[in-house]
Amino acid sequence: MSELMQKYIDDAEKALLHTYNRYQLVLDKGEGVYLYDLDGNKYLDFVSGIAVFALGYHYKDYDDALKAQIDKLLHTSNYYYNVPAVEAAMKIKEVSGMDRVFFTNSGAEAVEGAIKAARKYAFLKDGKTDHEIIAMNHSFHGRTFGALSVTGNPHYREVFEPMIGNIKFADLNDFDSVLACVNDKTCAIIMETVQGEGGIFPATEEFLTKVRQLCDEKDILLILDEIQCGMGRTGYMFAWQKYGIKPDIMTTAKALGCGVPVGAFLLNKKVGANSLVAGDHGTTYGGNPLACAAISKVLDLFKQDNIIENVNEVAPYLEKRLDELKDKYDFIVDRRGAGFMQGLVLDRPVSDVINKALSKGLILINAGTQIIRFVPPLIITKENVDDMIAILDSCLGTV
Ligand SMILES: *Cc1c(COP(=O)(O)O)cnc(C)c1O
Repeated sequence: MSELMQKYIDDAEKALLHTYNRYQLVLDKGEGVYLYDLDGNKYLDFVSGIAVFALGYHYKDYDDALKAQIDKLLHTSNYYYNVPAVEAAMKIKEVSGMDRVFFTNSGAEAVEGAIKAARKYAFLKDGKTDHEIIAMNHSFHGRTFGALSVTGNPHYREVFEPMIGNIKFADLNDFDSVLACVNDKTCAIIMETVQGEGGIFPATEEFLTKVRQLCDEKDILLILDEIQCGMGRTGYMFAWQKYGIKPDIMTTAKALGCGVPVGAFLLNKKVGANSLVAGDHGTTYGGNPLACAAISKVLDLFKQDNIIENVNEVAPYLEKRLDELKDKYDFIVDRRGAGFMQGLVLDRPVSDVINKALSKGLILINAGTQIIRFVPPLIITKENVDDMIAILDSCLGTV
């Protein structure tokens, strides 16, 4: 490593709060599906900033749209209308079939808004303030208090207790465990359509259908967190669109802005008309013109350049190549996921493999200690998959 890169790493450890154990490299620029560190080393990127850079780096039309918006108007207050926000809102309504959108700065904030909307909806029904939410074990919804409260990993929560309260945890794909949590106070059930951080667990169609029915019967709101699995990643714009069910509230972020910090929560007609009103919720930056110019362009480009079609064309090949690795190495116990959101499950920690891959020019990330996660840009080709598999194979040989 060059002295310069080492110096940045040393300075980082002097100045940044150490809340991440970072890999030992300073990323400097990106191009397409490749990243470069300060020393000019090239990396094939199968992480895309954790499911963010769906279009890869320096997608020309996207860059141009952002530059044009910077030259025009970067920020205004949400007390005024602005063109990019209106256009982004209309476009996201169209692709999601939801009725109302609130733009946030992050995924966690989208989850906060979703929880507030659900509680307000329930409050307007019975005037009570003791409503409960059912969340899933192994879920991840973000680091703020509301989002953390519905995150099904005690390790993330414990030292920050008390949480917001009135949260119960059930198991994904175990409908009886959900039923056991339901009572008259239940106002919402929240889950990721495909669990990400918790280990790449897709919700099954049967489970989602039953939960949807339960919610309809009892007027409980179904909140689907599509922050990681949404925006084309599973081969559908939103992962739930595969199942013929619809959420009452949905969250999105990560690839929504493809690199500009932005998220959103969306409400169906029923919740939109019976929850948050003027004064109930707000944000200074959320949905500002720059962020919304990004969303607007991303949604245009998904359509124009057939981004989701590429996922559906290349993802089966990624699955096939990963399955070959699974068959080759007996310490690989499972491969699961949907589209370009895949996990390879080992019977041992994966950190060595990931570090080795990094030293050979491949960026991968874990999801839990024993799962290698694959969340590449949605524009990757079969050739990129072959290159990734070749490097990964060479790292697995020596595990
Ligand atoms: C990343 C993530 C979040 C949190 O998003 P931030 O932008 O980091 O706050 C919430 N839910 C899911 C499913 C995520 O993957």
